[in-house]
Amino acid sequence: MKYYSTNGKAPLATLEEAVVRGLAPDRGLYMPERIKSLSGSFFEEIDKMSFQEMACHVAQAFFGEDVEEKALNDIVCDTLAFDTPAVKVEENIYSLELFHGPTLAFKDVGARFMARLLQYFIRKEGKKQVNVLVATSGDTGSAVANGFLGVEGIHVYVLYPKGKVSNIQESQFTTLGKNITAIEVDGVFDDCQALVKSAFMDGELNAHMNLTSANSINVARFLPQAFYYFNAYAQMKRLGKGDNMVICVPSGNFGNITAGLFGKRMGLPVKRFIAANNANDIFYNYLQSGKYEPKPSIQTLANAMDVGDPSNFARIIDLYKGCHADISAEISGATYSDEQIAQTMRQCHATTGYVLDPHGACGYQALKDLLHEGETGVFLETAHPAKFKEKVDSILQADVQIPERLAEFMKGKKLSVPMSAQFSDFKEFLLSR
Ligand SMILES: *Cc1c(COP(=O)(O)O)cnc(C)c1O
Repeated sequence: MKYYSTNGKAPLATLEEAVVRGLAPDRGLYMPERIKSLSGSFFEEIDKMSFQEMACHVAQAFFGEDVEEKALNDIVCDTLAFDTPAVKVEENIYSLELFHGPTLAFKDVGARFMARLLQYFIRKEGKKQVNVLVATSGDTGSAVANGFLGVEGIHVYVLYPKGKVSNIQESQFTTLGKNITAIEVDGVFDDCQALVKSAFMDGELNAHMNLTSANSINVARFLPQAFYYFNAYAQMKRLGKGDNMVICVPSGNFGNITAGLFGKRMGLPVKRFIAANNANDIFYNYLQSGKYEPKPSIQTLANAMDVGDPSNFARIIDLYKGCHADISAEISGATYSDEQIAQTMRQCHATTGYVLDPHGACGYQALKDLLHEGETGVFLETAHPAKFKEKVDSILQADVQIPERLAEFMKGKKLSVPMSAQFSDFKEFLLSR
């Protein structure tokens, strides 16, 4: 299968090229040339399959032309070593908990899948070591570092701003060792991103080492998120609630929901989608007005969704050939202020006992506001509330338990390389490796 760029000015790429490059040379996002439908019998049998089994079918449709069948199934099974259970919160509203992966974030799946796929291509072609550079303000770094941990042939450099990342997050990528190097930059997130960008553009550095990015727009990180939607449907079908299923996705860069839209194109019977936003309401406004007007992001309680120019908007436009009417027929929007998010968390906790994190709270509230009679709502709970413990505790006046896995990270010894925000220092460091 070939991949084209949403900007239409780059040559078609193979899967391997699309994965290694991330962004197309014309700065567009890669899209697969075809989206294959899955058979009726697959959907009839899906409720009898394990998460891994159904995901193998989905992965074959995406990547089966480019990766040997057994290798691909191994990658899927290794990636999905945990379940994403749908937990009933109240009548007709379910929380699909995506946070049971190694760093308790839904980004774990995409990160691990990409690591293993890249490893597959490196081995197949006998390439020398590949080096992944990733700048993080917290969550992406931990998911990528853990996804790539111990994967032979790949070294990961995580750049993060000194003093600007929570302790829990920092411990998730600075305590790992092995093929993960954490770099503590004396600056802000934008400095980290600038260092990474400069490194990709530096000829001498690229001649010295193979560099690649693990950006969230990478097809290998983005497409595997479709697995979640099939698992949601299978679980609802088991409960006799597979018809009229509405899926609500707390969205920032819109990668997760776009993977769901791909699922629907493959035949997954989702009635419609809701994109839940925090105060960053660019997509919501687009649905209302037909105009896409990116703005600088606003800091909110649900900070992984603080995005003012969602990168996957280009994929949504491409998928619907730019037709606003078709987009708004399949996706509704909602936007919530921090005050509303906190109020929702308190209301849900008081009436149902369920502890939402600030991102999931947007999803839950959008279902409360927009679900119709006869529909079953599933919202994606994208992070474990303990990842935002301070905020959640103070909003709920509670003491959220830190899961064992998270506590383990915090016991580890922090190892990081101090670095100035000067590119010359970073370059010298990389050249010495
Ligand atoms: C990344 C993230 C989101 C947003 O996902 P997108 O694919 O960028 O829309 C939502 N919640 C959490 C906790 C995240 O980490």
